[in-house]
Amino acid sequence: MTVPSRRLALIGDPVDHSLSPRMHAAGFAALGIDGEYVLARVPAAEPGDVGRTMQRFAATGGGNVTLPHKLVAAQALERSTDAVRLTGACNCFWLEGDRLTGDNTDVAAVAGVVRELVGGRTPSDVLVLGAGGAGAAAAVAGAALGASRIRIANRTPVKATRLARRLAEFGLPATAERWPVAGTCDVVVNATSLGLEPADPLPASFDRITARAALDLVYGPPGAANDGNGGSRASGTRWTRAAEERGIPATDGIEVLLRQGAACYPHWFGVDPPLEALRRGLLGPR
Ligand code: NAP
Repeated sequence: MTVPSRRLALIGDPVDHSLSPRMHAAGFAALGIDGEYVLARVPAAEPGDVGRTMQRFAATGGGNVTLPHKLVAAQALERSTDAVRLTGACNCFWLEGDRLTGDNTDVAAVAGVVRELVGGRTPSDVLVLGAGGAGAAAAVAGAALGASRIRIANRTPVKATRLARRLAEFGLPATAERWPVAGTCDVVVNATSLGLEPADPLPASFDRITARAALDLVYGPPGAANDGNGGSRASGTRWTRAAEERGIPATDGIEVLLRQGAACYPHWFGVDPPLEALRRGLLGPR
């Protein structure tokens, strides 16, 4: 049996449902990389193992971190990007010299998708629903796009206040907002986990908010709808469909998933990502 020269991993709990292995298998094949991308479950109750597991896989190529370990991962780093420092969360790691180094590629991914949603203009203000790791990434992405106001609303208001304060200390124009939200905004981002379960209520009602664009970080099943080009795309979520019914351009989180993965390639391999191969791996038939 041959052992691949590189072994990267997704660290989280749970990880079994992850689409990342199929996405990166396609990416590695497109680049001719002799490597594999495996799932490394570190139980939620054992966060102490996260740093050790990162070190182990950093030595063989690096990897990703997902729920619930992104915050612990940020603390395990010896070097980090601004995106990690601002969000306090790490989702991508590798070795630089002998130092464990990390980025939060969710930030660039959300910024890229929002920029396309609004046709390349600068969003005036961004309303973020949720104040966990994804909420932090969405808020920092909004600021990176030049929004003059970032409002953060969360079911547990103290967490929105805490996140807004933390970002304001870094000079970002962030404030906390009441939950449930109402009013007008330019872009609204669902960064709550509402929508993962079919019975979940919508994170915000488009009867109560007016927006020019909506991004749901939750995503529908890939491959559920045909894209008209012989491929397939994500089917959207109930919330993106509710937005579209109001004429609001909306997209679900599958494109963010794709781009956060793609943004790891320069870190892991020093090359541009094979975006179309990654897209086919993610969205194509299983
Ligand atoms: P997290 O840190 O656990 O935060 C979860 C957030 O959801 C919190 O703000 C929480 O509010 C809120 N929430 C949970 N249940 C709720 C409910 N019943 N009503 C209202 N709010 C509720 O998780 P995360 O890392 O931020 O991830 C959030 C979502 O983003 C997940 O669905 C994740 O899969 C998705 N995500 C997608 C991508 C992508 O690539 N597309 C990337 C990152 C994250 P409380 O503080 O009140 O509990």
